Amino acid sequence: MRRAAFTVDVDRDVNVPMPGRTAAGSSPRDGDASPRFSSSARGLALLVELLDNLDIKGTFFLEAETAQHIAMDLDLRDLLRGHEVASHGLSHEDLTWEGYAYEGKGDILDRAAEGILALTGRIPRGFRAPYQHADGSLHKLLAERGYLYDSSATDDIEGGKIGLRALPCGLTEAPLARGVDARGKPIHSYLWPMHEGKRRPEDYLHLLDQYDDGLMVIATHSWHVVETFARRLGEREVRANLDDVRAVLEGALDLGIEFATLEEHVEAGKHQGRPERSR
Ligand SMILES: [Zn+2]
Repeated sequence: MRRAAFTVDVDRDVNVPMPGRTAAGSSPRDGDASPRFSSSARGLALLVELLDNLDIKGTFFLEAETAQHIAMDLDLRDLLRGHEVASHGLSHEDLTWEGYAYEGKGDILDRAAEGILALTGRIPRGFRAPYQHADGSLHKLLAERGYLYDSSATDDIEGGKIGLRALPCGLTEAPLARGVDARGKPIHSYLWPMHEGKRRPEDYLHLLDQYDDGLMVIATHSWHVVETFARRLGEREVRANLDDVRAVLEGALDLGIEFATLEEHVEAGKHQGRPERSR
């Protein structure tokens, strides 16, 4: 069966690592690289509205500091009702940075989870690492805290299969997917090149037709429907950008792909056991 999850990294606008700091900044606009959150807030509201219209439950990886800023204007409990709330770190730290002590990374995860709980009333059970930078140490910290899954890796679609796999620490990995486009070039299930005008929805529908079994994790950034790496988009461009996301999701539904939250997919996988390829 073909299943999918639509996931959104809710992080600071156009986030970039800042030299000498663990917290990320935003790509400079008018010379200022301090973190910004308004595009992320607007994009989040637009994406939730789209998913609600399509009756698709999404998974939202909240970066806690960004969520705190968004919550000044939006009630996240109300907005994300029916969707999954997961964690994307505290201030968009690279948790594979060698300068962190093990306990220090654990503290970041705990503070992020506490912040997300306070804002949404829910304890995150899934994690996506900022910059998708995850390693064994991070997985172990997540497993020790009772997380269900990580969704930071990218796996190739092989033999028409993509999906969940068990990590040595007991955590489940729900990887993003890499396949090929119509010209045989690699394409990734993270939609950002579409928001940057480098890909069309058809490219992703081609990708979505490359598996016949398993789970396809589709991802995007909340801010990326409102702002690109280079500039803030005009109103008409924002609408066109959102229409592209809609085209991918409607196309997936037309292919008969079933959407659920990552948490639901992982829980179902645990109860049913992993499909055995030799059978
Ligand atoms: Zn991020």
